[in-house]
Amino acid sequence: MFDFGLKDLIDIFLVAIVLFFGYKLMKKSRSVNIFYGVLVFISIWILVSKVLEMKLLGSILNQLVSVGAIAIIVLFQEEIRHFFYAIGTHERVGRLLKFFKPKTSNTLEEDSRYDRDTIMPILMACLNMSKQKTGALIVMQNDLPLGDFIRTGERIDAKISQRLIENIFFKNSPLHDGAMIISGGQITAASCILPISHDLDIPKEFGLRHRAARGISKETDALAIVVSEETGGITASYNNEYLPHMDAERLERVLMKGRF
Ligand code: ATP
Ligand code: MG
Repeated sequence: MFDFGLKDLIDIFLVAIVLFFGYKLMKKSRSVNIFYGVLVFISIWILVSKVLEMKLLGSILNQLVSVGAIAIIVLFQEEIRHFFYAIGTHERVGRLLKFFKPKTSNTLEEDSRYDRDTIMPILMACLNMSKQKTGALIVMQNDLPLGDFIRTGERIDAKISQRLIENIFFKNSPLHDGAMIISGGQITAASCILPISHDLDIPKEFGLRHRAARGISKETDALAIVVSEETGGITASYNNEYLPHMDAERLERVLMKGRF
């Protein structure tokens, strides 16, 4: 029944590598349980149709497996998007592609190209809201357009001003709920709904506002700043960087170096 050659061993080894990286990719998301489910199903399929060679049950499972690729794309849509996004924004790939695309940065340490007039009102508003413990979530668009998220909120298209930002996030103001999106040097929208990150390594004391900041900065190249209503603490989220306890100086550095 078993006739294993070198080719089969290499085959099994390659499958193990794919499964390992699949697991690494899923580990931090809620899809890890779906991943286990798929593994159990594939094991049963191999046992039934390849090892025990049961014809009837095997043929039913074969039918299911034949549409498996589509099912996997649907089930792991989010992870597949993250995977390709991670490849596209990987440092080495970036170096390869730099002749084809305009200069982009992937870390907050890159050079600033924004003037203080744009950044200062945002910085001052965040510091003030932090002092008064006013909850806020501000997202700064970079290269990837945030149109899908802007559409979920209220369009504003106003000049960036400290008073306007504070006013929007003022408790009980009609637009204080959700995120403000800044793009093209303007306050583009407020009250926007962002994707929530399901990462398990976010500390329990951080709620939905912090998870939404993490979500948008992982799905896109935007920079997200959170002011906590509970503690007044300021957190910045960019790519895979999650920077809590920002003081004025660090926040200014992040805003200067983030591109929006
Ligand atoms: P805080 O420290 O300010 O309490 P938190 O991380 O604990 O923040 P919550 O207390 O859950 O978060 O904050 C809830 C607020 O976060 C909501 O009132 C809403 O304004 C905002 N929020 C929640 N989910 C989203 C989302 N998906 N997109 C944008 N904003 C959201
Ligand atoms: Mg909270």
